[in-house]
Amino acid sequence: VKIAVLKETRANERRVALVPAVADKLAKLGCEIHMQSDAGAASRIPDSAFKNVTFAANPQGLVSDADIVVSVQPPELSVVNAMKEGSVLLSFVYAHKEVELTKLLRDKKITSFAMELVPRITRAQAMDALSSQAALAGYYGALLGATNLARILPMMTTAVGSIRPAKCLVMGLGVAGLQAIATARRLGAMVEGYDVRPETKEQAESLGAKFVDTGVDARGQGGYARELTQEEKDKVAAVITKHIQQADIIITTASIPGRPSPKLVSKAQVDGMKNGAVIVDLASEGGGNCEYTQPGQTVQIGQVTIVAPLNVPSLLAEHASELYAKNQFNLIELMFDKDKKFAVNWEDEVLAKACLTHAGEIKNEAAKKVIE
Ligand code: NAD
Repeated sequence: VKIAVLKETRANERRVALVPAVADKLAKLGCEIHMQSDAGAASRIPDSAFKNVTFAANPQGLVSDADIVVSVQPPELSVVNAMKEGSVLLSFVYAHKEVELTKLLRDKKITSFAMELVPRITRAQAMDALSSQAALAGYYGALLGATNLARILPMMTTAVGSIRPAKCLVMGLGVAGLQAIATARRLGAMVEGYDVRPETKEQAESLGAKFVDTGVDARGQGGYARELTQEEKDKVAAVITKHIQQADIIITTASIPGRPSPKLVSKAQVDGMKNGAVIVDLASEGGGNCEYTQPGQTVQIGQVTIVAPLNVPSLLAEHASELYAKNQFNLIELMFDKDKKFAVNWEDEVLAKACLTHAGEIKNEAAKKVIE
């Protein structure tokens, strides 16, 4: 089985879909690995670090006889055009934003698996790139909060008196939010957490945060949250505003599948914040959780700084690539049978659900609705 690994082409994408340790595992599985020259350079992994891999500069040539093509971001149309019928693509796709690409994958009869479609079930945890990347983003969010603050996080006792610990409020306690709590705690902050899924209370508390209970339960499907009604939003605001005003750092991570990021911090709430406070908006990909957020920028509103980085995992490219490559390897391994023969088992729930296109059809219902 021939695997082709692409060099990423999108702006600010530093990750790569294969790291040397995973190349060794693929070789053991019997794969022949071809990689685009310098694909790992932005992740600080030179070509020379890979064994068992041959390099080529031209992506079209690379994919033309590959059975499996892997990348982080969706590949260019010209690359998909060069792929052979029936071959497999593994990458993030986000079909609703990539209509032309998805149609091409369908029409070229490519079997595509979208990393964002891997189901959030226990068995698929080792293949879940959304989680592995979100954990890194949450960690980095806490660091960004700390470095944009003109204060320190821990309590510090000095000869001239002691400094009180900073207060950090984490809003949205999924994978990124919980990691942000853990990191801010390690830096010595007093941390509070808030979410609309009640089960997050125990998770936040086990990491040493206080849970802000707003009394709103907005559990949706599949472990995700649903959008709040106006009445629920008012109920949340009545409780959360005080906590927003006391915070030195707010880290927001809230998202609702398929919808723009919910606005958790209004302009009026920002205007009431402490001088020097910082908001790190990790939901800026979906428009952001704060009404003042400018995705991709850092803005100053009065004395409050709002940091809204895009593609945070790419800023930690080395580890992000390592975890991503392992997630993909575990998915690829599923495509081999007991005798190490390459044969996609469509009875497997993880593969069936992660599949976007196959044999000339869009397999994912939500994507089909948007595109066809
Ligand atoms: P996400 O990125 O979709 O959302 C982040 C958080 O924002 C969620 O906790 C959500 O409840 C919260 N949120 C949404 N609207 C909000 C609002 N108005 N106010 C406050 N918070 C709001 O979440 P995620 O990190 O992808 O995880 C979502 C769920 O999936 C969690 O239940 C997680 O435990 C589960 N999960 C399961 C697995 C698995 O079993 N394999 C893997 C990963 C995640």
